[in-house]
Amino acid sequence: MSFIANRVLNVKPSATFAIIAKVKALKAEGKDIIGMGAGEPDFDTPDHIKDAAKAAMDAGDTKYTPVPGTADLKQAIVDKFKRDNDLTYTQDQVIVGTGGKQVLYNALMATLNAGDEVIIPAPYWVSYPDMVLLAEGNPVIVECPQDSGFKLQPQDLENAITDKTKWVILNSPSNPTGAGYTHDEIKALTDVLLKYPNVWLLVDDMYEHLVYDGFKFATPAQVEPKLFDRTLTVNGVSKAYSMTGWRIGFAGGPTDLIKAMTKIQGQSTSSPNTISQAASVEALNGDQSFLDDWRAQFAERRNVLVDMLNDIEGIECLKPEGAFYVYPSCAGLIGKTTPEGKTLDTDEDVVTYFLESVGVACVHGEAFGLSPHFRLSYAVSLDTIKDACARIKDAVSQLK
Ligand code: PLP
Repeated sequence: MSFIANRVLNVKPSATFAIIAKVKALKAEGKDIIGMGAGEPDFDTPDHIKDAAKAAMDAGDTKYTPVPGTADLKQAIVDKFKRDNDLTYTQDQVIVGTGGKQVLYNALMATLNAGDEVIIPAPYWVSYPDMVLLAEGNPVIVECPQDSGFKLQPQDLENAITDKTKWVILNSPSNPTGAGYTHDEIKALTDVLLKYPNVWLLVDDMYEHLVYDGFKFATPAQVEPKLFDRTLTVNGVSKAYSMTGWRIGFAGGPTDLIKAMTKIQGQSTSSPNTISQAASVEALNGDQSFLDDWRAQFAERRNVLVDMLNDIEGIECLKPEGAFYVYPSCAGLIGKTTPEGKTLDTDEDVVTYFLESVGVACVHGEAFGLSPHFRLSYAVSLDTIKDACARIKDAVSQLK
């Protein structure tokens, strides 16, 4: 019998972190590799945020804080939810964690009993199903194919609900597709949930600020206030402020749930990083104008990437509303043969072929629960995007 617990044996390591490690290793060997797998903006954290961290250190803010976060940061989060989302929380209805990831994990650990079901629309962020498994729940995957814009349809949601359903996870804009739900699309889903009072909504708004072409971001608790008392709205500073390494995420939700999550955090990691919390106060309260420039750059990159991918025979790419990912279909490449005589049977074969033949690293769709697709991140320069697409086109042209 293994010394390692069953709950670990059931879980996969993060596929995206595995790709990042592979790219690093190949580059270290001197190979010419373009990494299109990154899950973080390529911009530096803005200076005013770094300055706030330096000031906190200089002021001696280097000790533990309360487990769910400092009063200053919790107030900045309360103000953010009011300003951006028209959601009214009190300080005891918010929690700060070590990244959005820990907040989501705490929520599942605080609520799932063995066998409880969590509905996860696919393609999904890689961690959701494994987090549910770690909490001894059952992930219930609902496929949302490209012809539905990768968005959960109300009837599919209703069909997936059972007596055991505890949560539905909704992530908009999405990692890995970039798809963003409009106000009306959210309303159609919340209308279904109004009929099922025991089902809660776990909302992941991590990419809220990265939306393009005037897309209007909306979040379920705002769209349907009747669901406010059974929604946990998760957000963070990682993506919007390019602070992935600072490890701060947060959520707003009902007091009892926040208390339960605080108990788990208090017995695992305690308070989040004190200096990062001070920096996050500045991120949320300070100047937001740099975001216009970032959005403009991301939108231009997305447009170039989508056009160049659609110019490649066998690849079909939707233009997403937000985040910094595209999720093209490679259905037209499945069944083709490489110059070495290998048949491409799966999307993993396709991305392996791209990596080995032309040095472009992306993540296969199977890791996100919907095939045959692959995810490309455009958190890289325009030149890199053009180079990557030219290389993919070259690789595809050699298939028979
Ligand atoms: N949710 C989604 C959809 C993400 O893409 C990520 C990061 O990749 C997270 C949550 C976790 O963010 P953090 O770095 O704050 O833990």
